[in-house]
Amino acid sequence: MSSDDGKRRMNPGDEAPAGTPGTGEDLCPVCKGTGRIGHRDCENCGGTGRVIRGIGGA
Ligand SMILES: [Zn+2]
Repeated sequence: MSSDDGKRRMNPGDEAPAGTPGTGEDLCPVCKGTGRIGHRDCENCGGTGRVIRGIGGA
């Protein structure tokens, strides 16, 4: 996976890679932090229940 150099694992609901300045974790709005949709992992957050969102703007 050398072509992924510099890429962090991101989920569809992430606005930026983890650790990006000006961003922070927030509860996933799709699964509301549970990481689950029914009996499946939430695709928006990859089952973590959290997404990365920008917190710097407003
Ligand atoms: Zn989720």
